[in-house]
Amino acid sequence: MPHRVKEKIEASQRRARRDAIIITFAAIMLFVVAVVTEAFEYIVHFSDTHESWEIDEMLVVMMILPLAMLIFMVRRAQEVRQEINARKEAEKATERIALHDPLTGLANRRKGMSHLKKLLQNASKRPVTIVGVDLNRFKGVNDLHGHNAGDMLLVAVSERLVDAVGDLGMVCRMGGDEFVVIFKGAASEPPLNDIINQMPSIFRAPFELEHVICSVGASIGVSQTDDEHLGVEAFLSRADIAMYRDKDKGGVSISFYEPGMEEAAKRRALIEGELRSAIADGRVEPYFQPIIDLETGNVIGFEALARCRASDGTLLMPDEFIPIAEQSGLISRLFLQVLKKGCLVLRHKPPHMTMAINLSSLQLSDHWLAEQILAILTETGVAPGRLEVEITETALVANFEAAHAMVTKLKSQGIRISLDDFGTGYSSLRHLSELPFDKLKIDKSFVARLGNDEASDTIVRTVTTLAHNLGLKVTAEGIEDSAHVSFLQGIGCEYGQGFLYGRPAEVTGPRETEDAPNEDYEEADALPVSSRGIA
Ligand code: C2E
Ligand code: CA
Ligand code: CA
Repeated sequence: MPHRVKEKIEASQRRARRDAIIITFAAIMLFVVAVVTEAFEYIVHFSDTHESWEIDEMLVVMMILPLAMLIFMVRRAQEVRQEINARKEAEKATERIALHDPLTGLANRRKGMSHLKKLLQNASKRPVTIVGVDLNRFKGVNDLHGHNAGDMLLVAVSERLVDAVGDLGMVCRMGGDEFVVIFKGAASEPPLNDIINQMPSIFRAPFELEHVICSVGASIGVSQTDDEHLGVEAFLSRADIAMYRDKDKGGVSISFYEPGMEEAAKRRALIEGELRSAIADGRVEPYFQPIIDLETGNVIGFEALARCRASDGTLLMPDEFIPIAEQSGLISRLFLQVLKKGCLVLRHKPPHMTMAINLSSLQLSDHWLAEQILAILTETGVAPGRLEVEITETALVANFEAAHAMVTKLKSQGIRISLDDFGTGYSSLRHLSELPFDKLKIDKSFVARLGNDEASDTIVRTVTTLAHNLGLKVTAEGIEDSAHVSFLQGIGCEYGQGFLYGRPAEVTGPRETEDAPNEDYEEADALPVSSRGIA
């Protein structure tokens, strides 16, 4: 209840008490004066001598009157008490609304923050732990099944959280699909350690809503402190930092805040900013790495690998910025920029040469992707058969339906498809045989161990045979050694790519103009890439 209202009620109760004391005191005084001055005898005498005035009737009336007044006052006091109670109830309801989330009934951000503030004041005596939870793919549920389903999902999530936490912590909905659980005590000690470690399982089981069953992942970030001077916002942001560390991996993840994570988060924010401005200014570049026909030794094409020039001139590498581009929704624009610039180079290369480009798993469900690719091919005058889209094995397994639809669509336009990083995911024969891939790229981790590790030799040999039986050509990635080449030639692997032949390099020569393609094929077998290797 707000403090001022409480004070008002207390003041009015004090006033009523004071009035009752004054009235009682005055009545007692009056009685004493009457007794001392023998007023009653005087009144009786006066009544006897003035029989005609009906004073005895008046006395009876005067005796009844205080009784009636008393009854009236008691009734009035009861009414006032009822009014105060009703007002207290109303204040409580207002308070409930102001401090709770109307959808889930959980404590809201305001209540959570004030509870946390109180606990932090005592943190040196009893540590405080918070667990931040942010749902993944919640927007997808809203978009796909409607807001009603989204609301039901939030209620179901809050119920599972409350069940798991019980009386040991306060579950708050901070807004949207974000929750925070506040605990007194250390995250590493029982019973909190058990509760926290089991939190990911809450999100692994699918949620049964009215007409749909859906799975959402969650990113969980845990932070603990015994620092009384740590502000509520700073404490919450530590849980956020831990939570966002694995966010781009999707699914369900849990991570614990560690000092130094702020640095990684700052770097991430910096890269995101750099990426945003690089995309806007056209500073994302394709670096070309040659792909070789292992039988003839000729270059048959290139893989376009993204590089981003930061504002201070340093070169950012894709292993760092691709996950950030995916998480910040920039991946599609980045891809289109690499594709367009790559095509502007490719059209000056001999027509038998191809360009491979990497597709992020997030792009598999982009309904406009095929149209956008075709528009760029048309605009730059590159035939669809010269483009090869690489989809990783992990992306294929994680989104088989979406991959199936995308591959079918791209293939129907004449674009070729490679299965990238083969051996790092868990695809099955069904995945391989159901999709019309053109090529399979054996991951560089297997190629690197060729000759040193019998298992790798066997895997590379078996995978090549399997691919051939399915009608696919094979590229071996990460060839650094000529001994690798002999082995690969021996097993009939068609293509190779690796530092032995050339590192991904900045593209030199004509490319900016978007005029008709240059049909000069003289340099066909020369490596048309700069010798300045970067990778
Ligand atoms: P990837 O598709 O497997 O690309 C091959 C990576 O292996 C490249 O790293 C390349 O520099 C490296 N590599 C090539 N030959 C050798 C070798 O002989 N030895 C070793 N140790 N490494 C070699 P890079 O350019 O840093 O790219 C890393 C990954 O980033 C790529 O792996 C790809 O998954 C992703 N990536 C790059 N560009 C794009 C892009 O435009 N879009 C998307 N979605 N992902 C991209
Ligand atoms: Ca690739
Ligand atoms: Ca690869």
